[in-house]
Amino acid sequence: MCSAKGCRATAAHAVVWNNPKLHTADRRKVWLACDEHEKSLADFVALRGFLIEVVPVGQLTDADG
Ligand SMILES: [Zn+2]
Repeated sequence: MCSAKGCRATAAHAVVWNNPKLHTADRRKVWLACDEHEKSLADFVALRGFLIEVVPVGQLTDADG
C-alpha cells in the first residue's frame, strides 16, 4: 500500500532512502508509493539528499525495510 498520507492505493514503486544522521550507510529505508505519489515521495527525500533509488516493488529484497 502507498505510504502517502491518506492514500490507500496499491503501491507499485519503492522509494529507497537513507538519512545518514539517523541510519548507518547500509540501511535502506523504504517508502512504498502508488503511481500518483511516487514523484512527490521521491522528491521529498531527494530534496534532503536522502534518496538512493526508486525501484519497482517487485525488486525489493530482504535487506530493504
Ligand atoms: Zn498514493
